[in-house]
Parts: sequence; C-alpha cells; structure tokens
Amino acid sequence: MSELQRIIPIADQRYLSSVPAIPAEPVMASGRLSDALGRPLRDLRISVTDRCNFRCSYCMPSEIFNKDYVYLPQSSLLSFEEITRLAHLFIAHGVEKIRLTGGEPLLRKNIEVLIGMLARLKTASGRDLDLTLTTNGSLLANKARSLKDAGLQRVTVSLDGLDDAVFRQMNDVDFPVADVLKGIEAAEKVGLAPLKINMVVKNGTNDQEIVPMAQRFRGTSAVLRFIEFMDVGQTNGWRMDKVLPSAQLIERIHAVYPLEPVQNATPGETAQRWRYADGSGEIGVISSVTQAFCGDCNRARLSTEGKLFLCLFAHHGHDLRALLRGAHSDAQISTAIAQTWQQRRDRYSELRTLGSGPVSPSGSGPRVEMSYIGG
Ligand code: SAM
Ligand code: SF4
Ligand code: SF4
Repeated sequence: MSELQRIIPIADQRYLSSVPAIPAEPVMASGRLSDALGRPLRDLRISVTDRCNFRCSYCMPSEIFNKDYVYLPQSSLLSFEEITRLAHLFIAHGVEKIRLTGGEPLLRKNIEVLIGMLARLKTASGRDLDLTLTTNGSLLANKARSLKDAGLQRVTVSLDGLDDAVFRQMNDVDFPVADVLKGIEAAEKVGLAPLKINMVVKNGTNDQEIVPMAQRFRGTSAVLRFIEFMDVGQTNGWRMDKVLPSAQLIERIHAVYPLEPVQNATPGETAQRWRYADGSGEIGVISSVTQAFCGDCNRARLSTEGKLFLCLFAHHGHDLRALLRGAHSDAQISTAIAQTWQQRRDRYSELRTLGSGPVSPSGSGPRVEMSYIGG
C-alpha cells in the first residue's frame, strides 16, 4: 500500500487557513508567475516535520514545546507522493530551488526516499533543481552519505556557537557541539557542497561566539551566515534588545578580520555578502529585522500538513492538502496555486521597519511558528 493510500484525513485547526477556490478558467503554467508586487515564484521551502530534537529558545522554547505539546498526527502530514506532486506543480510556475526544512527534517522517516523523488524533477527550463536541506546537524554524521547518494546537492547546517557550554545552552537539550562539527565534516567529505553554516545571534546569549565562529570557518569552503534573531511565531519572547543589528556584527568581525562588501549576484538572495580582505573567503548576514528584503522575496512555504504560506510572518495558510485529497486534477490545483500567488501582497518585515516594532499586517489569529513552517 502506498503512503498516499494510508492517509486518514483529519483537519488540524491550529492556524487559520482556507481552501483556495478553483478558478473556472485554467491558468497555463508559464514558469513566469508573479505576485501582486511583481515578485516571481522561485524558491519553495517544504517543512517535512514539526518535530525537533532541539529546543532552541528562539524557535521552540522548552516551556511551550514540552511533553504536553501536541504535534501534528502522522495522518496530517503530506505523504512523499503528495509533496512531489505539489513540487512538480510549483516548478512549472517557476520554482528553481527547493529547501527541505522543519522542525528537524532528518527526523522524518525515510527522508532519503523523498529526496530521491524530488531530485528527479527538472526546472521549467529543463535544468536540475537546486535541492537543499537545512538541518541542526545532530544526525548528519550518520546520514550525510545516504543523503548525498539519494540526490541531495548541498546542506545548510545551523550552528549557534563553538563553545560547548554556549552551544548546549542554545539547543537547550544538552547536545554537544562536537557531534554537530562531526556532521559538518561528514557533509564536506561526501561533497554536500558548498556548505552553509547558519548562526542565529541572540544578543547577550551567544554574541561572544561571533568572532570565534568567523575564525573557525574562514579559509574553509563553508560560508558562514549570521542571522538576526527574528520575531517569528509568538512563543520565543522576542525583544528588539536581543537583536544584534548586522551592521554592528560586521564591525566586530571587521575589527579583527577586515571585510569588504560583495555585490549580490542572485536576485532574491537573503544574505548580504562580505569577503575577507585577505582573500580567505566570504560570510553573509541575514538582516531580516534591521534591513528588510521583502522587495525581492520570491519564497513560498509549504507547511508539514500542506498549507501554503506566502510569508514567514503570515497568520493564514492556503490549504493545498484539501485540494490534493479532494480529487482535483493537476490543472485545477496548479491554477489555484497561480491565483493564490498572483494575489500575494505580503511584506511583513518592510512594514515592521516602517513602524517601530512587530506589526499585524494581515488578519488575526496565531502567527505560524518557525518549527511548523520551516525557516
Ligand atoms: N531544524 C533545522 C535547523 O535548525 O537548521 C531546520 C529548521 S529551523 C526552523 C531553520 C532555520 O531557522 C535555522 O537556521 C534556525 O536557526 C532559524 N531560526 C529559527 N528560529 C529563528 C528566529 N527566531 N530567528 C532567526 N532564525 C531562526
Ligand atoms: Fe529545532 Fe531548528 Fe528550531 Fe532549533 S531552529 S528548535 S533545531 S527546528
Ligand atoms: Fe518574505 Fe515575508 Fe520575510 Fe518579507 S517578511 S522577506 S515577504 S517572508
């Protein structure tokens, strides 16, 4: 029996959602879909689980995500066949890059099977899909080889410090940093490259790790990216004074290892790039709080249970699983996706910058958590 046939439809009501209407006239996919602000659809992030073995305080604080927290039931999750079917439809509209995320994506059973299915898809212009995955690295040492063999091209590993005590405090499950470093080594060894390392900086908690992290990864093929602590979801106790603005972070590194800016080559790239003046590589900063980049945002997000979110800060999802399980044709679902993207006006971070703090741009109800929608 296939994974699809075993599905029992149970609606999960934790976030507001609606089922997209199927327009009477089909829209032919041209690979050039744009939203209401002229932004193309290029990047699809797929969350494959809402579970994680870490409890990073900026994402899944242990007071909330404790033993009483109710995760999505298995029957709510999109099957691999459903994910691949949707990926195929999104690609026809212009998606060129797919990132698997979560929760912790390596906790999803048989993730290699899904990777194998996605790796066979081609972009609208006939090229290989840019297929990647973001992981906390805890299971990577054992899985790097099988992920590569399944067709994964590269990985991004989250690493919030090198000091073991700081790292254990950040993951809040006492996980040793040495094991993530082994995962990074294994990924490099099997060629899951170019490797990216993401460090979320929480001012006053791990900012002392910035320079040691820069030192550790300069001169290697890995690109280290520093991410400003974001006000995503509503459980992580976000406060502006816990954000270290990227401009200050750059100053701190520049004082030790002089840096110069690099022009971004790819439109929609979230990180601003800097290179070491002595030629020992590059770093990136993702300044979602202090320098919004909504104007170029070409990312769609598919939640673990098949809801399409048009922004990381959305309150409301578009229930594609209902369409998949409602016996609609590919043409109908493709048209519904097109219409949903064409109506997109989300630009939360820009609106936050224009105001003085978190805003509520669209609708009400709980804002989605990072662990549900993926980073
Ligand atoms: N568990 C995997 C991991 O940690 O890499 C994948 C999912 S995680 C939600 C994806 C990315 O989001 C990670 O790099 C994580 O550091 C980042 N992230 C989570 N919460 C964040 C927040 N409040 N602000 C900035 N980045 C955040
Ligand atoms: Fe887990 Fe990743 Fe969130 Fe940390 S950031 S709690 S590793 S999903
Ligand atoms: Fe994109 Fe929303 Fe982030 Fe702006 S706030 S960059 S629209 S995900």
